[in-house]
Amino acid sequence: MPGFEFFGAEERKEVNDVLETGILMRYGFDGPRKGIWKSKEMEAAVCETFGCRYAQLVSSGTAALTAAMNALGIGYGDEIIVPAFTFVASFEAVLSVGAVPVLVDVDDTLTLNPEAVRNAITPKTKCIMPVHMCGGMADMDALVAICKEHNLILLEDACQSIGGTYKGKKLGTIGDAGTFSFDFVKTITCGEGGVIMTNREDVYIASDGYSDHGHDHKGGLDRGADLHPFIGYNFRISELHAAVGVAQIKKLDTFLRIQRSNNKLLREILATIPEISFRRIPDEAGDSCSFLSWFLPTEAITKAVVAEMKIQGILAGNFYWFVNNWHYITKWDHLKNAVTLNHVHPDLKAAVIHHANKDFSASDAVMGRCISTAISLLWTEEQIKAKGEQMKAVINKILKEQQVHA
Ligand SMILES: *Cc1c(COP(=O)(O)O)cnc(C)c1O
Repeated sequence: MPGFEFFGAEERKEVNDVLETGILMRYGFDGPRKGIWKSKEMEAAVCETFGCRYAQLVSSGTAALTAAMNALGIGYGDEIIVPAFTFVASFEAVLSVGAVPVLVDVDDTLTLNPEAVRNAITPKTKCIMPVHMCGGMADMDALVAICKEHNLILLEDACQSIGGTYKGKKLGTIGDAGTFSFDFVKTITCGEGGVIMTNREDVYIASDGYSDHGHDHKGGLDRGADLHPFIGYNFRISELHAAVGVAQIKKLDTFLRIQRSNNKLLREILATIPEISFRRIPDEAGDSCSFLSWFLPTEAITKAVVAEMKIQGILAGNFYWFVNNWHYITKWDHLKNAVTLNHVHPDLKAAVIHHANKDFSASDAVMGRCISTAISLLWTEEQIKAKGEQMKAVINKILKEQQVHA
C-alpha cells in the first residue's frame, strides 16, 4: 500500500529543488522561486494522471474533504450520508462544516449499501459521500442513480483508493468532487497532503480560495492585492510536501503493478481454503489492490483466527476493523456521545448522537467476519508464499478446532 516504502533519490531531488531557492510557500515570491512551483506541478500531474479538469492541492485529506464540502455549499442543516466503516476523518470533515453525518450500513463491498442509502434519505439530505475503502470501490452506478433521482451532491472520499477505477473512470473523478489523501501511509505520499479533484470550475475556484483564507488569486504579483469574496481558511500545502508528491506520482503505475501482482499471489493461496470468501468488488478490474480483504464463516472463527495470528506473531499488517479504534462504529464512543472540546449547537449534538447510535447489525454481520491484509510493495515472491502458508496454517487450525467443538 504505502508509497513511503519507495522513498528515494527522486523524492530527495524534488525536495532539494525547493531547498535551493528557499521558497517553501506555494503562492507568491514569483522572482526568488526561479520558476519552481512544485504544488502547481503536482496539480497538473494529478489532472493528467486521473483525468480530471481541476485539482487543488491542500495540507491533508481531511482538509480536502472540508474544503470540498465548503466549495459544494454543504453546511448548517444539511445531512450527509456516510458509511459506518471509514476512517474518522470522513465524519470529522462533515462536523467541521456544521452538517450532520448520517451513518449508514456497509455491505460485503465494505462500502455504502445502496439500499441503506436510499432508506436514509430525508428532505434534509444534501450529499452522499461514498468512501472507497481499502483499495476497492463503492457501487457507483447505484449511487450515481440515487443522486440523480434525488438531486443530491456526490462527493467521493477516495483517500484510500488512489489509482483505482470504476468502469474505466478513475475513483475520485466520478462525482461532483473527489478527494485523495497523501498522508504518510497512503498509496502515494507527500508526508502530509491531500487533493480535491473536480470537473466543475465553480467547485475548483471555491476550493482554491477557501484553502487560502479566501484569496481570489487575482491580485497578480502582489498577494496583498488579492480580494476575498468569501471567508476562507488555511489548508495550504507547503512546497516541500508537494515536492515529495511530484516524485511519488511518477511512481504510481509501478506501485499499482506491484500491488496487483502481490495481492493476486496472496489471494491464490488463501483461495485454496474453501471456507474463505473475498470482498465483493463492483468492478474487479478497477481494484487498486492496496489491501486483500477476506471473510471467514463466523465472527467467532474470525476472532479466534485473529487471536491465533497474534500468538504466532503474524498479525502485523492484518486489520480486524471490527474492533479497530479508528475505522469502525463499534469503537467511536467520542462520536456516539458527541464529545467535543467546544460547545456545538444542541440540535447538531442531538442529531450526531442519534445517528451514531442506530442499529448497525447489518454492518456488524459483515465487519465481524472481515480481515484486511495490507499489501506491501517490498514483499518478495518467497515472502508472500511464506506469509500465505503461515496464514493458511492458522486458519485451518482454527477451523479444525471449531469442527471438533461443534
Ligand atoms: C487517510 C484518510 C482520510 C484523511 O486523510 P489525512 O490526509 O490523514 O487527513 C480520509 N478518509 C479516509 C478514508 C482515509 O483513509
